[in-house]
Amino acid sequence: MPIRLLPPEVAGKIAAGEVVERPASVVKELVENSIDAGASEIRVEIREGGRRLIRVTDSGCGIPAEELPLAFARHATSKLATAADLDQITTLGFRGEALASIAAVSQVTILSCPRQQETGHLLRVEGGQVVRQESHASPPGTLVAVENLFYNVPVRLKFLRQPQTETGHIHDVVAHCALGYPRIRFGLFAEDRQIFQSAGNGSLHDVLVTIYGLEVAERMLEIVADGERAEEEAAISSTPTTFGYAGMPAIHRADRTYMSFFVNRRWVQDRSLVHAVEQAYHTLLPVGRHPTAVIMLDLNPGDVDVNVHPTKREVKFRDSRAVYSCVQRAVRHTLLAHTPAPGTIRSPQTWPAPEWERRQTLVAAGQQVHTPHQLAMEMFRTADLGEGLQAIGPVRLPLLRVIGQLGQTYVIAEGPQGMYLIDQHAAHERILYEQMVASISKQHTTSQQLLAPLILDLDPMLAGVLADSLPLLDRAGFLIEPFGGASYLLRAVPSILAVPDIRTALVDILEMLRQDDDPLTARSEERLIAAVCKRAAIKAGQSLSLDEMQQLVRQLEQCESPRTCPHGRPTVAHFSVEQLEKEFGRR
Ligand code: ADP
Ligand code: MG
Repeated sequence: MPIRLLPPEVAGKIAAGEVVERPASVVKELVENSIDAGASEIRVEIREGGRRLIRVTDSGCGIPAEELPLAFARHATSKLATAADLDQITTLGFRGEALASIAAVSQVTILSCPRQQETGHLLRVEGGQVVRQESHASPPGTLVAVENLFYNVPVRLKFLRQPQTETGHIHDVVAHCALGYPRIRFGLFAEDRQIFQSAGNGSLHDVLVTIYGLEVAERMLEIVADGERAEEEAAISSTPTTFGYAGMPAIHRADRTYMSFFVNRRWVQDRSLVHAVEQAYHTLLPVGRHPTAVIMLDLNPGDVDVNVHPTKREVKFRDSRAVYSCVQRAVRHTLLAHTPAPGTIRSPQTWPAPEWERRQTLVAAGQQVHTPHQLAMEMFRTADLGEGLQAIGPVRLPLLRVIGQLGQTYVIAEGPQGMYLIDQHAAHERILYEQMVASISKQHTTSQQLLAPLILDLDPMLAGVLADSLPLLDRAGFLIEPFGGASYLLRAVPSILAVPDIRTALVDILEMLRQDDDPLTARSEERLIAAVCKRAAIKAGQSLSLDEMQQLVRQLEQCESPRTCPHGRPTVAHFSVEQLEKEFGRR
């Protein structure tokens, strides 16, 4: 084909693809416009996860009638005039692309009335073309309604998740805007039901309570700057001011989504900031767990470039190293002000029990292992002996002797370097997880047929999760068939999941999966397996016979990563010989 210029509507759709990925991107752009317009109240209404309708109403400055058509032109903005302005951006928008992009892939109606004007003006744009324009009664402010998003982009429609999932992303956007702007009252309504409301009273902590709940919010520590340092840094203009909240180490999470970063109030995604915060928590969290934090950075607009990506979710700092260390130090300082310094690792001591010594000598002599006793010693040899209480990592367990059960929750055992408490549920989860991963990779999962198929009537959100995960569930050993609407027929489950209440078990599993939904990646198999194992594992509160406990401990010893459950929590707590001696005043 010869080279030729694309017709404007094709070029428009291509450009729109960069800005409008999913309904939540539309909400983000519209709400940002409302914030830039100085609104004190912003209301977002959606239908069918935003695909059918997104309506954003604000109490901002409004748009004069004669400028309305221009607002939809590409590269039309009131927020900058010259290229030099790009270096001093103080508004959320500036590219003049959002309305044009949204209008290229949906049907948009805008109704706006500037504050001092009597009557408003309405404009309707379909597929980028103005189809209606008239004077129209309106309260001061602006209303933008986006209908039938992607009606003319079938590939994008195909990629959309279930409405409930998209609603979740929209909720995320609105919640983060509320964190960035505690003075603005944000409301979010899905199908006329209120699903989010911030007070707009200026208190960041109140927004935290709304989003995370009182229990978590109360365990978020306000970031306190290190006084002396702050003064030194204030002298250097490119160093940001850091404020916000850092969660106590106790409220750690399985993934990184509970860390949010704001640069001059803009919610951004930045790996190096994530890393800075994780470094600040170093040794305070169990391995594989992540902190909760809301980090606000204020810095001179000239020291940060937000014009990196059309969605403006990424930024470039002029002095990224200064920013990194400033964040890390502020968070660390806050944590240490509230947490005792972690103990230092001492070289571990072993029991004076002759049995251990004898075993060690035997192994050192390089004996062949044949008998179960010798096999046990072989395992003892491969166990790491140079490990203190702190270093809980993906290392093998030493050979353990089961002593009994504690509170129907923990197995007490003795090992060469002291006492071990094993969380029976976490340990069993780990064992099942490794077994299931192995059998799926060898493609011989075993399923258990149900006596009678079970009809599952799910709520739409969970039905969506199920529909999205069917191939995965199938590989894991579930046999599930669609049964019309949000109903499904469950015929078989993985054998390990032969638990009494299968219905609740499956709902639990779907709820665990719901948290994981990047539209561009498949649902991850590991997460499904982890969810199944969590449900199938023995629970706390279940009493175990000595035999069962021994079996559990033997199987745990054989795991690749026996120290943590598939969700990253520890399976084993170790009380070293030294610790015990100290407790009893023997040292
Ligand atoms: P940008 O925000 O990058 O300037 P947009 O396409 O999002 O580009 O918006 C174009 C222009 O329309 C804005 O610069 C602003 O002047 C005007 N505008 C959009 N939404 C609103 C609103 N809710 N209230 C007032 N003005 C608005
Ligand atoms: Mg904008």
